[in-house]
Amino acid sequence: MAKAVDCAAVRDRVRRVHVVGAGLAGLATAVALAGQGVAATLYEAGPAAGGRCRSYFDRALGCRIDNGNHLLLSGNQAAMTYLDTIGARATLGGPDVPCFPFIDLATGERWTVAPDLGLVPWWMFRRSRRVPGTRLRDYFSLLALRRAGADMTVAEALDSNGTLYKRLLEPLAVAALNTPPDAALARLLCAVVDQTLLKGGRACIPRFPREGLSESFIDPAVAWLEARGGRLRTGCRVAALQQEAKRVTALGTADGAMPVGPDEAVVMAAPPWVAATLVPGLLAPDEFQAIVNLHFRTDAEPGEAGFIGVLGGTAEWIFVKENIVSVTISAANRIVDLPAEDLAGRVWPDVRAALLLGDAMPPMRVVKERRATFAATAAQERRRPGPRWPAETGGAHNLVLAGDWTNTGLPGTIEGAINSGYAAAAAILAGA
Ligand SMILES: Cc1cc2nc3c(=O)[nH]c(=O)nc-3n(C[C@H](O)[C@H](O)[C@H](O)COP(=O)(O)OP(=O)(O)OC[C@H]3O[C@@H](n4cnc5c(N)ncnc54)[C@H](O)[C@@H]3O)c2cc1C
Repeated sequence: MAKAVDCAAVRDRVRRVHVVGAGLAGLATAVALAGQGVAATLYEAGPAAGGRCRSYFDRALGCRIDNGNHLLLSGNQAAMTYLDTIGARATLGGPDVPCFPFIDLATGERWTVAPDLGLVPWWMFRRSRRVPGTRLRDYFSLLALRRAGADMTVAEALDSNGTLYKRLLEPLAVAALNTPPDAALARLLCAVVDQTLLKGGRACIPRFPREGLSESFIDPAVAWLEARGGRLRTGCRVAALQQEAKRVTALGTADGAMPVGPDEAVVMAAPPWVAATLVPGLLAPDEFQAIVNLHFRTDAEPGEAGFIGVLGGTAEWIFVKENIVSVTISAANRIVDLPAEDLAGRVWPDVRAALLLGDAMPPMRVVKERRATFAATAAQERRRPGPRWPAETGGAHNLVLAGDWTNTGLPGTIEGAINSGYAAAAAILAGA
C-alpha cells in the first residue's frame, strides 16, 4: 500500500487521476490514491468493472457465475490489505485451516495435504499429512526454487519425475503460473512459494469468495471509491492518449476527448495488448495462456475445503458452491479451441468421479478466457515494464502503468494485479 504522505501537499500537486481500465489493478490504484486523499476517475470499456475477475448473470444457467474460479491464499498480503481497506475480507470463505484435498483419477486414491498452522512444517514429518508415496527429503526440493538460475524453468529446477512433483508441485505450479512447467519461470513460482508455503501454514489457508468475485473484489471497491469522490465510467473505451510536450493532455473516447489537466495524472491499467496500442513503443507481454472454466448447474457436497485438486483427468481443480460446480483448467492453449460440448464431454466424467455424482450431465456453461494471463516464460518476463515507461521512448511524465503484466515479480495473479496498483499509486504520489 502507498506510504503515508502529506495529503494536502499531494492534493495540491495531483488534483485527480484518470485510470484507464477498472480491473483489479486499476481499482487498487484508485483505492490506494483515495487513501491519500486523491480521487480517481476510472474509464472501463466493459459494461461493469472487474476485467478478468468478475461475476455476471448467465441466462442459460439461470444464476450468477464467475468468469473463472479464483483462489487466494491467506499469505497474499496485498490482496488481504485491499480487502481490509474496502471492508470486504469477510466476504471470503474457505476452510479455517490449510488443507488441499486431491484425487488421482487413474488410481482412485484420495488424500489431503494439510500443513500445520505454525512456521515449522511438522506436517512434513507425518506420513498421514504428506502426499502419499513421498518422503520427508522430497519436500526440501522446494528450496531448489531459491537456487534456480534466472531463466530456469519449473521443470528444470524441480525433480520433475518425483512423486511430490507429479502429485503436488506440478498442479500448484500450473495453477499459480498458468503456463506449462517446462516453459514457466522457476523464480516466479519461487515468489509465490516464498509468500505462502515457505511462510508456514498460517499463510496457506485457501480463500475464495463465498458468493462471487464481483461481490468480494469489485463491487465493494467501487462503492468505497464512490463514497470518497471516485467516479466509474463504464462502457467508456479509451481509444487514444493525446500528448503534448511529453504529457498526456486528453483521453480519446467515443464520447469525445476527456481533458487531463496540468495537475492530473493518467494510469494505464488496461491489459497489455491494449496498453501496447495506446502507449507508443511500449514493450509489454505479447504471449498469453488460456484458462478454461466449466460451470455445471448442480448440487454437490463441498467436502472439507470446498474444492478438490484432480490428477489424471482433464479437470484440474473443482470448486463446489451452492447449486453450482465449477471446474478450472489452466495453461489451456492446448484445448481452448475445442467445442464447448467436447470439453464438457471430457470434463463431466472427472467431476462425477471426484464428487461422486450421478450420470446425467446437468446444464453447463463453458467460459474460455483466451488471454487469461501472460505466459510466465523467461522471454515474457523480459517484456514486463515497471510503473514508469520513459517519456523518451513513448511514455509521458504524467503517465504510469499498472496491471498484473507489469514487473511485479509475481505471475499474473490477483496479488500481482493489486501490488501493481499500489506501485502505480506510489509512483504518482512520489511525483507524477
Ligand atoms: C479464468 C481466470 C482464472 C484466474 N484464476 C486466478 C486465481 O485463481 N488466483 C489469482 O490470483 N489470479 C487468477 N487469475 C488472474 C487474475 O484474474 C488477474 O491477474 C487479474 O484479474 C488481472 O487484473 P488487471 O487489473 O491487471 O487486468 P484486467 O482484469 O484485464 O483489467 C483491465 C481492464 O481494462 C479494461 N479495458 C481494456 N481496454 C480498455 C480501454 N481501451 N479503455 C478502458 N478500459 C479498457 C478491461 O475491460 C478490464 O476491465 C485468473 C484469471 C482468469 C481469467
